[in-house]
This record gives sequence, structure tokens and C-alpha cells, in this order.
Amino acid sequence: MSEYNPHEIRRLVDGELPWLRVQEIMRSPKDANRLLVWIEIQQERVDWNERILLPLTPALFIVESGARRVVKCRCGFEFGDDYRVNWKLEALIYVHEDRESLDRIYRGIDQPDPDWIQLREYSCPGCGTQLEVEAVPRGCPPDFEFLPDLDTFYRDWLGTPLPDTRTFEDKTLSEIARWEV
Ligand SMILES: [Zn+2]
Repeated sequence: MSEYNPHEIRRLVDGELPWLRVQEIMRSPKDANRLLVWIEIQQERVDWNERILLPLTPALFIVESGARRVVKCRCGFEFGDDYRVNWKLEALIYVHEDRESLDRIYRGIDQPDPDWIQLREYSCPGCGTQLEVEAVPRGCPPDFEFLPDLDTFYRDWLGTPLPDTRTFEDKTLSEIARWEV
């Protein structure tokens, strides 16, 4: 099994590693420590101290914040109180849903039918970074792209259980239900 030094992983993250070397890494069996080195590099690059449990995107991280596990932007903005609730509920949302608005993005036959499709941009309320874009049918709830089972992952895959555990469930709908009260 391959092992990689932090310097090499840092260059990989920054897109500075020669393509031939990237291909070698892609072909090699997955090593055990690469994720932890990658998290360590991400942790060095943010201005806050909460422990990163898992990066979700280049700008979003699930972090341990006191007794909570929350989704946090690189800028420090926290999306709600629980990573098991879709973070998009707390994002700024810009919706392209008419011909004129979609015209700025798609040309000709590439353009989806605005009677059926919305293009939604999700941005961070803290720094304005565009975090996700999704093209979905009208009325479709925000897509919850990735809900990791952190406890199983850390316990069974990394062999380093987290200090406390959470049930593995999507809590988005129960959060929305609270809005109705
Ligand atoms: Zn932000």
C-alpha cells in the first residue's frame, strides 16, 4: 500500500502535481492515511479551530463544534446546528426559472424547458461564495448530495472512533416540520 507525504498531497490539492504522478496515484491502491493528511492540510488553511471531520466541497466542511457536528464554510459561517440537515436550507438561493434568465447560461437546444426545470445557485451568506448549482424539476426539494455516516466511517474504515455518536439519519424534513409551528 502506498504512503504519501504531506508535501505531495498539498501539491495534489493545489493542482500542482504533474499529471503523470497524479495518474500513478490514481492507479495505486488507496492508502490509509491520505484522507487524514488531506484533512490536516485543509485544517491548516482555515482561520478557525473547530476540528474538520470531513470536507464536503473545496469550501464546505463538516466540523466538530462543541457538542455539535455542523457544516461550516471556509469563511467561518455555520449552516444550522446539525450536519444531518441539508445545509442548503441556510444558504442564499438564486433561482433561474424563466427563458430570459436561462438564456444567460444556456444557448439554443442546450437550454432546459423553464416550464419544467429550475436552475438553483446556492451561496454562502457569510462570504458569497457559490457553493453548489443544481438543475432540478420545479417543486423538487433541494438535493441533499452527501450525508455521510461519520461514526461508521471513522470507526470501521479509519479505525479511530469519534468520541460520541449520532444516529445516521436525514433530519432535513424534521427541521422543516418545525417551521410550521
Ligand atoms: Zn462562506
